[in-house]
Amino acid sequence: MTITALIVAAGRGTRSGENLPKQYVPYKGQAILAHTVQCFLQHKDIDNVVVVINSKDEALYTAAMVGLGAPDFVHGGETRQASVLTGLEYLAEGRAPDKVLIHDAARPFVSKEVISRVIAGLDDAEAVLPIVPLSDTIKRIDGLTVDATIDRDNLGAAQTPQGFRFDTILKLHRQSTNAATDDAAIAERAGVAVHVVDGDLANIKITGPADFALLRLREVASGELRTGTGFDVHRVGEGSSVILCGVDIPHTGSLMGHSDADVALHALTDALLGAIGEGDIGRHFPPSDPQWAGANSRLFVDHAMSLVKARGGTINNVDMTIICEAPKIAPHAPALIRSVASMLGIDEDRVSIKATTTEQLGVTGDGGGIATQALVTMTLPAGRPEKQI
Ligand code: MG
Repeated sequence: MTITALIVAAGRGTRSGENLPKQYVPYKGQAILAHTVQCFLQHKDIDNVVVVINSKDEALYTAAMVGLGAPDFVHGGETRQASVLTGLEYLAEGRAPDKVLIHDAARPFVSKEVISRVIAGLDDAEAVLPIVPLSDTIKRIDGLTVDATIDRDNLGAAQTPQGFRFDTILKLHRQSTNAATDDAAIAERAGVAVHVVDGDLANIKITGPADFALLRLREVASGELRTGTGFDVHRVGEGSSVILCGVDIPHTGSLMGHSDADVALHALTDALLGAIGEGDIGRHFPPSDPQWAGANSRLFVDHAMSLVKARGGTINNVDMTIICEAPKIAPHAPALIRSVASMLGIDEDRVSIKATTTEQLGVTGDGGGIATQALVTMTLPAGRPEKQI
């Protein structure tokens, strides 16, 4: 007994509101399609997984399947039905299984139990459909008014995977001329009894913006909280202003350093890098490198943020303490907060900037230096790092 999963991933997903075909949108650092494929690769009874993709998506597909043993793929057709037939014909060329499970790429939460129930159902049937009960009361609509309330006891919503004896569904798809939105409908129309098994309410189909919003919530809820700290000190020398958080503040001296010596942004950069285990500012921007002479320190923050974004990270909050006797920071704090919030692309209420002195003691106490301590918290998606696609 051989069993193949045929994953239909050739659609363009134009209703998703995302800028990629929906099956390639990342969730927890992997394309939705990769999650779906893994559900079947990890099932002990599935012998083979074949994915029907759109010919325009081959690069996306290859990137999405990294680490998954490069499952076979075949280019689909213009419609879902044409794509399924292409997949079935591909299997018919010397790869024919006894049973085939046809599954939507956009259902990444299918459970082992649902897959097992569909497979087991095929022992006694030629076609098996997982069904979930309807929880909403169902109305028939005539224009803008309700025509009738439908008794929902005999109704169910069809999910996938839909299971078939391979020879049966191949023959039916070859003969089918009417468009169908699922494969069970093709069997029903041909008079083949379609047995139902319990589906799973968690086995949702990712379709529109509301589904993607739910995915983002799940991602954050299952994400990993990271923290990073940074500390930096710069000497005050000749000059008439200091740059803190990218804001020029009048003073009786200026901060000395290789770049613009923005001690606050240096501490912030180290905190960002620290939260993702990316070393420190000196590793990314060696002070020995002449190209960073006089550099605007915003460049360092932007680079650290690009690394955070590449990991799918979201900044939760930033808390900074500027340590100096002078200048007075409090009057400038709102401008500093605005500047940092805009650099990180977060709301101002997620940024705190405080100041303290060291009671005229130590490095900063005689006005000879300004120090900054920064703390950042962020959420990284669970799972492996986001791939570049
Ligand atoms: Mg520094």
